[in-house]
Amino acid sequence: MLPAYRTATNLPTCRCGTDRTCRAATPEREYTFAGALYALWGGTSVPARVNFRCVHCGIVFEVRSDRATRRAFVI
Ligand SMILES: [Zn+2]
Repeated sequence: MLPAYRTATNLPTCRCGTDRTCRAATPEREYTFAGALYALWGGTSVPARVNFRCVHCGIVFEVRSDRATRRAFVI
């Protein structure tokens, strides 16, 4: 059984119950070609997309491309 607080959040989870707020969630940044080049030149690049992968089962359970999430994952 999943803990009750999980049902209160509407975040996507994998089959282990990991959501993107968990420690087990690894964010993977994806850049556009131009964004990757800019980062190579030492610029700050906002990722085009952030994938959240579970370290336990290895699946990507959430893909975010909204501005707020992308800005939160600027290196
Ligand atoms: Zn998992």
